[in-house]
Parts: sequence; C-alpha cells; structure tokens
Amino acid sequence: MAGATVTIVTGAAGEAGEASVTPLVPRPLSSQSRYRDIPELRRLEATGSPSHVVVHHIDEEAVGEARDYCDVHAHPFAELNLLLGDPGSLVFDIVLGDETITAVSPTTVWIPAGVPHSANLRSGHGTFVVVYLAEPQPDPGH
Ligand SMILES: [Zn+2]
Repeated sequence: MAGATVTIVTGAAGEAGEASVTPLVPRPLSSQSRYRDIPELRRLEATGSPSHVVVHHIDEEAVGEARDYCDVHAHPFAELNLLLGDPGSLVFDIVLGDETITAVSPTTVWIPAGVPHSANLRSGHGTFVVVYLAEPQPDPGH
C-alpha cells in the first residue's frame, strides 16, 4: 500500500491496530491458575501483545505417562494450537468437548469459542504454540 505509514512498537504493549514486536519471555506455567509446572516444559509468553501468544518448549524427551499440566477450560474466543517438531516427535492429548484426540506433530488444532478444552503432554519433544484469536488481548488466565 503505497504511502501507508505504519508505526512499529517494539518491546512494549501496542494497540491492536498498530504493528508491534513483542518478545517472548519466560513465565512459568504456574503463573496461570489452570496450569501446573512440569519439569520437561519451558513456557514463554508475549506479555503485552495485542493477541495472547504462548509457547511451550518441551526440550527433553518426556517420559512415562501423559504429563498433565492443563485443566479443562473454555473461553469466549477461538484458540489455535500448533504442534511443531519433526513428524511424530511430539504427542499431546487434546480434550475437545466430549472427545479426547491424540495430536501428533506437525499439526494444528482449532478450538472454537466456548468449547471446553485442554491440552496435555503425552510424550516426546518439540514446541506447542497457543494463540488466542481475540482482539484486544483478553484477560490472562491461560
Ligand atoms: Zn484455552
């Protein structure tokens, strides 16, 4: 768009209508009430981004049974999950309404607004990304 002027805000919260760059910074799972810390997982959050963006890095091979860290919850906006990693390297149990599905990387999961859901690590390593499809940013709590 010729002549368009975009103000880019870096390192700080921007308004939803302006471009911004928001670093991902460490923030433990237990900073949110529906999460519990598990040793395999590093959580990063784009604190202040107009859209809620969280990254869960599973660096080490998760061992044993499913590592439950997220309670079932619902919210009035859609959510997109991305499971990133080599094919088959990361496995999550995803509750969607009355069903539980096994999600295997690389894949995406679309969660419509209002649908009860949770995502818990079953095995493997990789990266799990959570994005809320909402503007402006809803209250934290995920
Ligand atoms: Zn959610």
